[in-house]
Amino acid sequence: MMAGFDVEKIRKKFPILLRQVGGKGLIYLDNTATSQTPVSVVDEIDYLYENTKANVHRGVHTLSQEATDRQEHTRRRVQGWINARSFEEIIFTRGTTEAINLVASSFGDRFKDGDEIILTVMEHHANIVPWQLLQRHKNIKLRVVDINDRGELDLEQYRSLFTPHTVLASFTHISNVLGTVNPVKEMTEIAHSHGVPVLIDGAQASPHLRPDVQDIGCDFYVFSSHKMYGPTGVGVLYGRKELLESMPPYQGGGEMIKHVSFEHTTFADLPFKFEAGTPDFIGIAAFAKAIDFIEETGIDNIRLHEEELLHYTTEKLLEIPGIKIYGTAPDKAAVISFNIGEAHNYDVGFLLDKMGVAVRTGHHCAQPLMERLGVPGTVRASFAAYNTFDEADRFIEALKRVAPMLM
Ligand code: PLP
Repeated sequence: MMAGFDVEKIRKKFPILLRQVGGKGLIYLDNTATSQTPVSVVDEIDYLYENTKANVHRGVHTLSQEATDRQEHTRRRVQGWINARSFEEIIFTRGTTEAINLVASSFGDRFKDGDEIILTVMEHHANIVPWQLLQRHKNIKLRVVDINDRGELDLEQYRSLFTPHTVLASFTHISNVLGTVNPVKEMTEIAHSHGVPVLIDGAQASPHLRPDVQDIGCDFYVFSSHKMYGPTGVGVLYGRKELLESMPPYQGGGEMIKHVSFEHTTFADLPFKFEAGTPDFIGIAAFAKAIDFIEETGIDNIRLHEEELLHYTTEKLLEIPGIKIYGTAPDKAAVISFNIGEAHNYDVGFLLDKMGVAVRTGHHCAQPLMERLGVPGTVRASFAAYNTFDEADRFIEALKRVAPMLM
């Protein structure tokens, strides 16, 4: 157990962890899907609804200015957190999915028939389907990087996929199924050596590490607040300013214009050009408190604690007869996907729930990866800052009771 990391103190900040499920204390191991939210974030949302609810960027009145200030405070907080050069490079979206759709639609506007996009077999559907939607109008090819037996990307194949037609490489920083941490800086350098821009799906990385977009050198980086202990309905698109400036708006409406007439409309400057309509300004404002929580706890402390839980739980899991773990890369986040013998993942998850253990089951929005692994789905347990070794033990005990029932 890590010295100086007071998990009980952290748990007190998350009242939901006191819940009972199936008459037992909840063990929440579905953090990859969404993490829980500390009181500081919930209190902030309450406070904002009770005291400063007014639409942003529109009013001269006090409430509107306060609401605007808080939203813009979060933008600067995110800018600092990921080390973007300018606040203009931070676009608020509804989440990772919307951020990728924005890039696909707006940056993808320039793609032509015959252009190629490099993806990987471990992508979440959010980084597959938006590119396929482009194929309705343009004959664009998707070229896919495979994995090895440990669940690491085949970098040689990645290098070989670049052609003069490649217009984008888009890949996940951390796999939501395998936990693999991809060498995103190296992959970005390889793409740039071919003059190809890079989008990184940081949905699973942002809860576990601090992405430095300048150090990585990527052109786009996207993530969701709700996986980072923050509110739902808020996400971030980081984009390099020159690229964002060269892209057409994604949606039209209020907030994103300078002047509108029926003959001609001019668009607002960055970042507002990409933020049509009323944003979730209360969620955005409260997201700053989630970043505060991560910073106070220490992102490195969180990562180390989760790594210890990962190694501890993996070792215990391997004692269960018939267990198969998918994803064994040495550089791996605290996500464990597995199956036990022929037991259906859904049955395992259902029975675990009866014992108070919340895990994910199914294809995890990564059906091409499931096909590659040759399974319809897996059970997935994933850890966050507030999980404990005692919870890991109780999860394993529950699994040891469940396994024989299904074999
Ligand atoms: N990308 C990855 C790797 C994910 O794990 C997820 C969600 O699980 C997403 C994208 C989609 O995120 P959101 O649903 O917040 O848009």
